[in-house]
Amino acid sequence: MKCVLITGGSRGIGASAALQCAQRGMGVILTYHAQPDAAARVVERIHAEGGTAVALPLDVGNSGSFAAFAAQVAETLQGSWGATRLSGLVNNAGFGLFNPIETVTEAQFDSLFNVHLKGPFFLTQALLPLLADGAGIVNITSATTRVATAGVAPYAAFKGGLEVLTRYMAKEFGERRIRANAVAPGAIRTELGGGLNDAFEAMLAAQTALGRVGEPDDVGRVIAGLLGDDMAWVNAQTVEVAGGYNI
Ligand code: NDP
Repeated sequence: MKCVLITGGSRGIGASAALQCAQRGMGVILTYHAQPDAAARVVERIHAEGGTAVALPLDVGNSGSFAAFAAQVAETLQGSWGATRLSGLVNNAGFGLFNPIETVTEAQFDSLFNVHLKGPFFLTQALLPLLADGAGIVNITSATTRVATAGVAPYAAFKGGLEVLTRYMAKEFGERRIRANAVAPGAIRTELGGGLNDAFEAMLAAQTALGRVGEPDDVGRVIAGLLGDDMAWVNAQTVEVAGGYNI
C-alpha cells in the first residue's frame, strides 16, 4: 500500500489532499499544529469513507523537532500499515500574513521563513531515508510567486524560494527516481490569513478566467494526482492551480 505524509492536513488544502489521497487507496499520515480536533475530524472522515489515516503533531517552524518526528513517522508506518517507507511527501503546512514591506518586523519575516522555506527543506532532509525510491514530493507554493500581490512580500519570496528548491530536489533525488513538483494555488477558500471577505473574493474572481476563487478540492485533487501513477513522468515543474488567474 502507498503511504503518504501531508503536513498541515488538518484544514484547508491539506485536509482535502488527505481525503483525496485516501480515496485513491493511499494510507495517509497528516500533521496538525494547533488544532488537534480538526485533524481528528479529517481522520474520522477518512475512516468513515473506508480509508486509513493517522494524525501526528508537528510544528514545521521548529526544525529541531524533525529527527524525533521522523522516528515517530517510522513507528506509525510500521504500526498502522506494516510499512517501512513513504511513497509521497506533501510540504503543505503554512500560514498567511498581510503586511506591507514598510512595516514587516524581523520576527514576522523569520517565522514566515521558518515555516515556508526552512521547514520544508529540513523536514524533507529528515524524511529522506524514509522516502521510497520512486516516491513523489509535492511542495505547495503560491500564485503570488508569479503575480506580485502587495502585502505578502516575504511570504511570496519564500514560496518562490521553495519553487527553486523543488527543482534542486528533483535534480538531487532523481538518482533515486524521486520526483519533486510544486503546486502553486491561486486564491482558495480556506481559513488562511483569516479567510476571504466578499469584496476581496469578488475582486479575485473577476481576475480569474474561470470566474470564481478556488475550493480546497480544486487543489487537493491535483496534489493527489501528482502522487499517483498517471503523473509519474511530471518532474521539477510548478503547476499553477488557479483557474487562470491574471493571465
Ligand atoms: P489553512 O489555514 O486552511 O490550513 C493551514 C494548515 O497548516 C493547517 O493544517 C495548520 O494546522 C497547518 N499549520 C499552520 N502553521 C503550521 C506550523 N507552524 N507547523 C505545522 N503546521 C502548521 O491554510 P491553506 O489550506 O489555505 O494553506 C495550505 C498551503 O497552501 C499553505 O502553504 C499556503 O501558503 C498555501 N496557499 C494557500 C492559498 C489560499 O488561498 N488558501 C493560496 C496559495 C497557497 P492547524 O489546523 O493545527 O492549525
